[in-house]
Amino acid sequence: MANLRFEVVAEAFRKRPLEVEVPKERPSEFFGKYVFNRSKMYKYLPADVYEKLVDVMDNGTRLDRSIADAVAAGMKQWAEENGVTHYTHWFQPLTEGTAEKHDAFVEHDGKGGMIEDFSGKLLVQQEPDASSFPNGGIRNTFEARGYSAWDPTSPVFIIDDTLCIPTIFISYTGEALDYKAPLLRSLHAVNVAATEVCHYFDKNVKKVQTNLGWEQEYFLVDESLYSARPDLMLTGRTLMGHDSAKNQQMDDHYFGTIPERVQAFMKDLEIQALELGIPCKTRHNEVAPNQFELAPIYEECNLAVDHNMLLMSLMKKVAHRHSFRVLLHEKPFDGVNGSGKHNNWSLTTDTGVLLHAAGKTPEANLRFVVFIVETLMAVYRHNGLLKASVMSATNDHRLGANEAPPAIISSFLGKQLTDLLNHIEKADKDELFTVAGKKGMELDIPEIPELMIDNTDRNRTSPFAFTGNRFEFRAVGSEANCASALIVLNSAMAEALTDFKRRVDALIAGGEDRTSAIIDIIREDIKTCRPIRFDGNGYSDEWKAEARERGLDCEASCPVCFDRYLDAESIRMFESTGVMKENELRARNEVKWETYTKKIQIEARVMGDLTMNHVIPVATHYQSRLAKNVEGMFNIFGREEGARLTARNVKIIREIAERTEKIETGVEELVNARKKANRIESEREKAVAYHDIVAPKMEEIRYQIDKLELMVADELWTLPKYRELLFIR
Ligand code: ADP
Ligand code: MG
Repeated sequence: MANLRFEVVAEAFRKRPLEVEVPKERPSEFFGKYVFNRSKMYKYLPADVYEKLVDVMDNGTRLDRSIADAVAAGMKQWAEENGVTHYTHWFQPLTEGTAEKHDAFVEHDGKGGMIEDFSGKLLVQQEPDASSFPNGGIRNTFEARGYSAWDPTSPVFIIDDTLCIPTIFISYTGEALDYKAPLLRSLHAVNVAATEVCHYFDKNVKKVQTNLGWEQEYFLVDESLYSARPDLMLTGRTLMGHDSAKNQQMDDHYFGTIPERVQAFMKDLEIQALELGIPCKTRHNEVAPNQFELAPIYEECNLAVDHNMLLMSLMKKVAHRHSFRVLLHEKPFDGVNGSGKHNNWSLTTDTGVLLHAAGKTPEANLRFVVFIVETLMAVYRHNGLLKASVMSATNDHRLGANEAPPAIISSFLGKQLTDLLNHIEKADKDELFTVAGKKGMELDIPEIPELMIDNTDRNRTSPFAFTGNRFEFRAVGSEANCASALIVLNSAMAEALTDFKRRVDALIAGGEDRTSAIIDIIREDIKTCRPIRFDGNGYSDEWKAEARERGLDCEASCPVCFDRYLDAESIRMFESTGVMKENELRARNEVKWETYTKKIQIEARVMGDLTMNHVIPVATHYQSRLAKNVEGMFNIFGREEGARLTARNVKIIREIAERTEKIETGVEELVNARKKANRIESEREKAVAYHDIVAPKMEEIRYQIDKLELMVADELWTLPKYRELLFIR
């Protein structure tokens, strides 16, 4: 019996790096080649149209529909010069990917022929027949219309022969059916709330921008090996597989030399990403074998989210060219680290940075403190919801495991910032005013400038860490759309700032001077949000106990975490900031529960099939071989000596019998548990049943399978093993 596994392993070994064609220009010259960016807008649009469009992009003014035709014409001209024949509205439905439907630039010319055409109407709005996207019941079938509408703040780009137009995706009645619509609303809410708070310090601030710098982790697996693992192909992770004798214990992969085939892949990926305007900067090996990271320079949040979505699909395409498969799943392999996507989040005004402590003036320092404390307030008030925003069936394997932040949200500030907040909380108020300068007018905090020195003191176990000029939200999963987390973070921030301003204004109205009022409220908030501050080891058991005492959300079940979206304070926050209405939240939760169930359901089915078609046949085959040997030995040596000489084989035969029996019973129970769960009407209850009953059954079965893998003759095992999947380049 030829074992396909050996063939694919040999094939994977033979592969050599692909020759990558490197452009002659420097990256700064081919950067954005396929993006209709400002310089191209300037070139292809009439001057007045250009001005109006830039105003929409920079100042969020409403798009004047009368310029749409001219913009479309300019885009079309540029696109055609690049060989483009089709266009698509590109959107982000509630599945974790992007969606597109390509249409050609052609129309009837009215004379029996065709002309190339692309009107403003087609650019601005379309009605994709998209009734099969998840919508949580917002659109029933007779109202199955959804609209995609152009987002002029994210530039259109070209992929192959298609002009891609970033759009939001909403229902006929205006509810968001995607990630982008609520993200844009949340960015608007932060902008409005933060700008108003900035006016306490500087009347000239016109707007506040949210920035995002993501760090994408991923695994690469050779394509031949991948194709021999149905579980990887269908679920994105290995459902079975014993630990490799060597994995990450030597710490020799992290920042190690990048293997040549991978290096070629990265080079290719980066060139294409740069051409699409994604400002790639960092690449390196990650902790686990075959795990890597790519990080661009941070950008405006909406654009950064689009770029991350684009990068994830680009990675899949480029990996394929290099005979790799990219695994974006948060936990493709047990026993080695999973993949996350740190979200570096910050706010800047048109006049400066808001989360940076290098303020030259006491005013800037006080402003810094306000924004830090209100971020903490946001995270504190909605810590359970923030956790829910990063929870998924796949990230569930990573959160709370001893490699990633725990399933508890807390914030690391570092010693100096902690000292500073403690100082402000406790010091006599006069002290804060009089250290330098005019009494009662200035706030001079000597600790602040030093923050610069110590901002790299990073606690890797903290899910939400301050790192000098930004917060790093580390619980986001590698496969996720960053928007899910940022919608919550931005909305919570907008709410905190609005609430802060309301209270400060009340004090000012009562006769208190402005600075004094701000300090009063800040001190109050420093006390309130104290429970969210934690600089210790987030992986420890003591922390879990302490967090519970502090009243932080410690729920670890993914489907139950989703309940936080429907808490009264969450609904209030989303509605008051104009980000989402209650019916949208309810609908989206239906989608979340349904998605959770489906993922586990698919895994359970694949596990059942693999068990019956691979594992048990192989184990039984090996068992018969041993039995034959025992029989033969008995024939040669007689009963007594035969028994002595085959004792080991008999033991293995028995163990295989026992383990396969357990596996068979396990699979039967798994099927029954699924059937029972499937009958549950409520999506929430169904997801809970899948979490509580179905998922643990798979773990039990896996345990037995992994033991069998160790026992059965290597030549018979059909599924590529961890040591092959993880170490072959
Ligand atoms: P790490 O040590 O966390 O891996 P990196 O140097 O890889 O840090 O950078 C992490 C990300 O943080 C990058 O995408 C970078 O552009 C981003 N970043 C840096 N400064 C800011 C900021 N002020 N706001 C948002 N993101 C930032
Ligand atoms: Mg980081």
